[in-house]
Amino acid sequence: MPSPTLLAKKISKSPTIAMNDKAKQLAAEGKSVIGLAGGEPDFDTPPHIVEAAIKALRDGETRYAAPSKGIRPLLEAIAAKTERDNDVRVDPMTDIIVTPGGKLALFLALKAMLDPGDEVLIPAPYWVSYPSITTMVGGAPVTIETSSADNYRLDLDHMKAFVTPKTKAIIINSPCNPTGHMLSSAEIEAVATLALENDLYIISDDIYEKLNFDGRPAVSLASIPEIADRVVVINGMSKAYAMTGWRLGWLAGPTSLISVAGMFNSQTSTSAATFTQHAAVAALTGPQDCVEEMRKSYEERRDFMVSAFNSIPNMSSPNIEGAFYAFPKVNETSKTSDEVANIILDEAVVVGVPGSAFGVSKDAHIRFSFAEDLGKLKEAVERIRRIADKLA
Ligand code: PMP
Ligand code: GLU
Repeated sequence: MPSPTLLAKKISKSPTIAMNDKAKQLAAEGKSVIGLAGGEPDFDTPPHIVEAAIKALRDGETRYAAPSKGIRPLLEAIAAKTERDNDVRVDPMTDIIVTPGGKLALFLALKAMLDPGDEVLIPAPYWVSYPSITTMVGGAPVTIETSSADNYRLDLDHMKAFVTPKTKAIIINSPCNPTGHMLSSAEIEAVATLALENDLYIISDDIYEKLNFDGRPAVSLASIPEIADRVVVINGMSKAYAMTGWRLGWLAGPTSLISVAGMFNSQTSTSAATFTQHAAVAALTGPQDCVEEMRKSYEERRDFMVSAFNSIPNMSSPNIEGAFYAFPKVNETSKTSDEVANIILDEAVVVGVPGSAFGVSKDAHIRFSFAEDLGKLKEAVERIRRIADKLA
């Protein structure tokens, strides 16, 4: 009997997806569960985007997309968006690949840059899929832990200590899933210096760039001229346009790397769905007030989540600068984040994701998505408040 790859032993199902599935299963069993595990907007996709997809289907846009790297109007819309938002010029025909979701864009970017054993620096807390995808493509993830006490700051000397002759890339996600942290200009400079001194690629995962709070814009690393030729941007429609189920993302970067990623895309996905690409054109070129309305709503919920967790005895949350996750900490506890998440699940019937999934080894953090109705968030926090003494 043949057996699957040995890599399978190093990877588990995405914990965010596993916990989200668990919440859905408990709801199907009739439990009054509040699922805050998945990072998915509660809003419906704006109607003009849905209409564009329906029109594309009616117009017969049901075949493989050509070119496989993305239909020309979408490549041009992404290039225009990149210039408008990030002040970066990319050639639509050579520097962008459209993929079925940002997650696959990340997979293709890493597959295109790594040889077996090449190392990738991943600051933690990190999005759960970074180490797993790195491992899946034959690379070696190297975690750089940062601390909540230091506002998750990236320090050049600290990062340098993790560089070896095998280091090939660093992954940056700002605003960050799960902390919301946005890189300061000093941190951007530190990442740029590290990459230049050690000849590294920088993966700039900009998927939450539109979900920034307190009027502070998110800066894409691609917009820094000195490093622009080594930055590969990951982005997509899921978060800003409430289009998670449409599976539409992209990567953009140096032509040499993008041409390899495009080759791999043509050999795996063939292309992102054609009618979805037409909908993405409508999203990127149409009115943007829907994005701002959703952002404002996340900001209100952010205000609530930060003050609510700081009002629960023995829990705390720093300010959340972007994205739509709270990542509070249980202050004085002998329990691990997995134990804390299980108690909250069993006793409060609220589903979050333990900090361990995001590479946090020391403190007991738990991630709750606030891309959920405010009424449900209030109920979730009250339930946690009632059982908070059990978390110590
Ligand atoms: N990057 C980060 C940090 C994310 O949280 C997600 C959410 N799944 C993605 C990339 C990819 O999103 P998608 O595949 O839905 O485009
Ligand atoms: N990015 C979201 C999250 O972190 C969606 C699930 C996933 O792809 O991990 O929950």
